[in-house]
Amino acid sequence: MIRLATTTRLRTSSNFCNFSIYRNKSRAKYFETFKYLLVNVYAINLLRFVILILYVLPGNLHAQEQVWYKGNIHAHSINSDGALSPETIVRWYKEHRYNFCVISDHNFLTETATLKSLFDADGKFMIFPGEEVTDKFGTKPIHLGAVFISKLVSPRRGASVAETINNNVNAIQNSSGIAILNHPNGLFHVSITAAEILEANRVQFFEVCCADFKGGSSRPSTDQIWDSVLSKGRILYGVASDDAHLFNDDARQSGTAWIMVMAKQLNGNDIYESIQHGNFYATTGVEIKKLMIDEKQIRITVVNKDQGLKTFFIGNEGKVLKVDESDEPFYVFTGNEKYVRARIERSDGAYAWLQPVFVERR
Ligand SMILES: [Zn+2]
Ligand SMILES: [Zn+2]
Repeated sequence: MIRLATTTRLRTSSNFCNFSIYRNKSRAKYFETFKYLLVNVYAINLLRFVILILYVLPGNLHAQEQVWYKGNIHAHSINSDGALSPETIVRWYKEHRYNFCVISDHNFLTETATLKSLFDADGKFMIFPGEEVTDKFGTKPIHLGAVFISKLVSPRRGASVAETINNNVNAIQNSSGIAILNHPNGLFHVSITAAEILEANRVQFFEVCCADFKGGSSRPSTDQIWDSVLSKGRILYGVASDDAHLFNDDARQSGTAWIMVMAKQLNGNDIYESIQHGNFYATTGVEIKKLMIDEKQIRITVVNKDQGLKTFFIGNEGKVLKVDESDEPFYVFTGNEKYVRARIERSDGAYAWLQPVFVERR
């Protein structure tokens, strides 16, 4: 039997149709909400299978078609070192068919009430509050994205790189936010190692891609950092954002990288829950139509057909487990991978990074 895990490990046991799941409290509540419905809708012998898919991918609950919402969670305005006003930036994302955006100024919480009244559109577009908590340890900058925060988070400092990161993550979470370790591999002189991320045990999210920067020349790439952390059994989700300060095509910032979130509806709670539980992918242009994960396999349907796709399924220590060049790549678990994640590369240089699934045979 193979078991999977995303945010925290999913465990099989015999106390609920041979399957029960333990995650954090909010997730357990979410699960409870739908348990009664599921028992009545599906045949008991299908329950175990259904719950697993639902749990990993809540977008499956009500619709055959999965709904993905496009969002950018990292951008700067004149409230810190950006070039444009918050209004102009939000208009840019809305006009470029994003479903949500976050202005994340350095140590400044841009007010969103007026922006929401001007730009929020039911089911189509939303603005969420954010900040980039900009701290340092010694001369080493440490930047943390803070999305959905309810109040300004000031830099917390710490006695080491890891402690500085952890203190800021705690402060962001205490302000109801999701904390993301931004551009860890050299951009803006920020250089956080995999060992430091492992020591900073509060970190659950990091930027696998910041604008068109993925690192990898003199320092480990973000993909290498990610695999080093995952190989130690630590769950870490990868986001992409454009970190735009400038909004013109020459700058290669705005619109270069974003996340696609699978959620039931476009509202703060659903988007927060989906990000929190890894129901999203990071991308610089590759689009996914459908993602199915169960205890046997991962199956992906890519939107961009006939564009030279190559999907790398990656496991422990960054080992490439399979390369699939179709537009419906899939991977069948053996149970020995420890984890599996997928990176899709397109011939024009666009990427997508899917979140890791932990696999364990028992
Ligand atoms: Zn930064
Ligand atoms: Zn930034």
